[in-house]
This record gives sequence, C-alpha cells and structure tokens, in this order.
Amino acid sequence: REPLLEVRDLKVAFRSHGRAEFQAVCGINLDVERGQMHAVVGESGSGKSVTMLAIMGLLSPSARVSGSVRLEGEELIGKPERAMRRIRGARIGYIFQDPMSALNPLLTIGDQIAEAIRLHDRKITRRSAQERAVELLRLVAIPMAEQRALQYPHEFSGGMRQRVVIAMSMANEPSLLIADEPTTALDVTIQAQIMELLERLRAEKGVGIVLVTHDLGVVAGAASAVTIMYAGRVVEQGSVDEVFAWPRHPYTRGLLGSLPHPGRPKPRLDAIPGAPPPITMRPSGCAFHPRCAFAVERCLTEIPPLRSVGPSLSACHRAEELPPLTSAMEAANA
Ligand code: SF4
Ligand code: MG
Repeated sequence: REPLLEVRDLKVAFRSHGRAEFQAVCGINLDVERGQMHAVVGESGSGKSVTMLAIMGLLSPSARVSGSVRLEGEELIGKPERAMRRIRGARIGYIFQDPMSALNPLLTIGDQIAEAIRLHDRKITRRSAQERAVELLRLVAIPMAEQRALQYPHEFSGGMRQRVVIAMSMANEPSLLIADEPTTALDVTIQAQIMELLERLRAEKGVGIVLVTHDLGVVAGAASAVTIMYAGRVVEQGSVDEVFAWPRHPYTRGLLGSLPHPGRPKPRLDAIPGAPPPITMRPSGCAFHPRCAFAVERCLTEIPPLRSVGPSLSACHRAEELPPLTSAMEAANA
C-alpha cells in the first residue's frame, strides 16, 4: 500500500528584492503513513514551516518549488491553485500556531465550522452542517457543545480556540492533518491536552498527522516517527524510539540534552551553543559546524549526505562515532 504522504527531494527557493536566490529547503524526503504521527522538529529558520506550506501549495508564486509531493499517490506539485484549494480543507486539514488567525471573529463558532463543511460539501443542508458542527465540537471535547456553537471566538480561551480550529480542520474528514506548532502559543497543561486530542484523533479516525514543533519534548509520547531539520535539510530521521535512544546526529543530541530528564534537576539550556543561521547566510559544508562540538576540518567544506546509520538516517560525517545516549548520559553523570 502506498504511503499517505510521500515527499521526495522537495526544494524551495526564494528570490528577495533583487538579491540572489536562496534555498530555504534543500531537498527533503518525508513519509507519513495513515494513522501515523510524524514529528518534524527544528528551530526557527530550519525550513519546517516552508516545507509544510509547500506541501499544501500555500507558498507565494515567487517561491520556486521542485521535487515531488504525493498524497495518496497523487502528485500535488504543479497542480493548479483551484485544484489545491479543493484538496486543502477536504483531504488535508491544517492547524497553525495562532488559532485566532484561523477564526473569523464576526462569526459564531458553529457558523464557521458549518461554513467549512459546506465549502467542500455543496449538497449538505445548512441545518445538517450545523448539526455536524456540534458533533465536531463534541469530537474535540468541548463541553456543552450545543451552546458553545452559538458563541463567538473571543468567548473561548486559547486552548478552547485551538480545539475549535482542530474541529474545523477535521470537518471534511481529511486523511492528513498538518499541525504547525499547534501548542506553542498555549500554556503547558493546555499543551498536553491538545497533544492528547491529536493523539486521539490519530487513533480513532486514522488520520495521518505531521506535527511540526521546535520542542522535542512534545514528540516523545505522541509521534512514532521523527524528522529533525536544520538549515533547510533533514539531519536525522527515524523512529522516535530509535532516535531518542541513540541519536545519530550532534544536533539531535543537543536538542535532547536541553530536555529535562528524571534524576537531572535542571535541563542544560546551553546544550547547543549559538543560534541557527539566518536563511540567507548558511555556513559552508555542514551548516551545523559553527555550533558543533564534534566538527572536524571536512565539516567546513563537505556537506554530509543523509545516509543510513543503524536503523536511522543521519547527515553527519561522524555519525558512527556517536554512542547510544544512555551510556553517554551515564558517563556524564558518573
Ligand atoms: Fe558536526 Fe561535522 Fe557532524 Fe556536522 S558533519 S554535525 S559539523 S561532526
Ligand atoms: Mg514556523
């Protein structure tokens, strides 16, 4: 069976105001199976959001996109905007960081969910769409859904608004959900509840989910596959279990090092010194080399290709020298 989403060698380049073209995304591969949550992790500027916009055909016409994005076997790159509009919302649901930007402040919650349904289902009656909107609010565990459907976005808390947006994204039973930093604007307890909701939708509805986040901490309990991006490239990819137990890239190890661990009181906030490079000034060779404690001379000139290392993929010249994390941590604690 074909994967739900298959991204191959996706590249995105931008030209900005007479300056040279720059490559925001430099050829990435990504597979998502039905009913799977695949996390895409990276700092800002890593290209993760641009990748998602490219998948959905939402980049401005000035972006140059190449490669292949197949949804249930169907190529999306190069599709006309009209066709993409039908696919977005119907077959791909999406959730962004700020739920308020996705909601119309002037429409009741029930009306805007009903509108989202009617946009892709012209035959449904206004009344059935309203009933379905209430069902969707129940699906995302909004209490007193019938009454809440009559209220306006400003009457909802941040977490409840994000639930509404998730309900809207599920309105047409998409096979794929793209959630870009869905919990970043929310406080920690609400974050956990939204992650639980996404996890339940995955399990109950069989929807495939791409979860984009800068926070490796939210990935552990939720996703089964993970892609780590840095400076427009995939630097590590594999199952969450494998990557967490034995990260094959120094950047991933740094991200894991900055997570709090049981038995270690404070997370090491300095685990990765420095900041990610701006998109227009990426370092030569391995773009991570200015921040990498393992960097050697060839890292300054040779771009490390993504290749199999154990059960995962890594783009590090020295991947084979990195020990499993458990023993590294034991060594550090000894
Ligand atoms: Fe560090 Fe070199 Fe590996 Fe890049 S290729 S992560 S600089 S060791
Ligand atoms: Mg982003």
